[in-house]
Amino acid sequence: MNDNGYSEVNNKKRKYSPLRSGSCVGKDTCRLAYTDSEKFEPHLIDILEPRWGHMSESIGVTGCERQCFRPATKTIGWIGTGFNMYMLKLGGTEDGRNQGWPLVDPDTNEIYLRNVPKKDVAMVTDALFGFYTTTNMSSLSSYERRQGGMGYFFRRIGPKMIIQWLKSNSKTADLMKPLPPFSYSRQQVKQVKSSSSISTSTPLLHKKIHRR
Ligand code: SF4
Repeated sequence: MNDNGYSEVNNKKRKYSPLRSGSCVGKDTCRLAYTDSEKFEPHLIDILEPRWGHMSESIGVTGCERQCFRPATKTIGWIGTGFNMYMLKLGGTEDGRNQGWPLVDPDTNEIYLRNVPKKDVAMVTDALFGFYTTTNMSSLSSYERRQGGMGYFFRRIGPKMIIQWLKSNSKTADLMKPLPPFSYSRQQVKQVKSSSSISTSTPLLHKKIHRR
């Protein structure tokens, strides 16, 4: 890249966006991966770049909770939790001073956005960028307000305000609702019982998903 922010590949100039992203190898290279990361991240950034490409922030994606790409050091991190499912981490700062955290309500200890479907990841990320750019940041120091300061903003504003914002946003409100308790149909229970020695007391059959 030259001093003007252009790369020169085959003598063709192309403008680089300051919005950075990266990922671990994920599926299918890593046998520990639950889901795509390297294959998903370019699609994610393609959706976000038209609106937020001018911002000097960072996004990290990994295919499982081992987090080899260290998404917690990015402004926004997405960590694979299952096939085509990702958990949000936010509040990391690239100066290395702070690690991001999952979105947890400090009063109830409820974890939000723990299993976000792949198709909704860009929408949640977009809403968080929108929150940052439309909020009055006069309470932040000039260091925190500089380009690349969104992680500091999340830390300063805190999880309660972020949760409130995402609940009030029509695009993300549904993702913030508790999921109904999960239960197998009678037919599924019958199939499981007849196909293996697993009994109905197996935790699998009593698994409940409380929240995304
Ligand atoms: S974070 Fe998980 S999926 Fe990605 S490379 Fe590491 S172990 Fe593999």
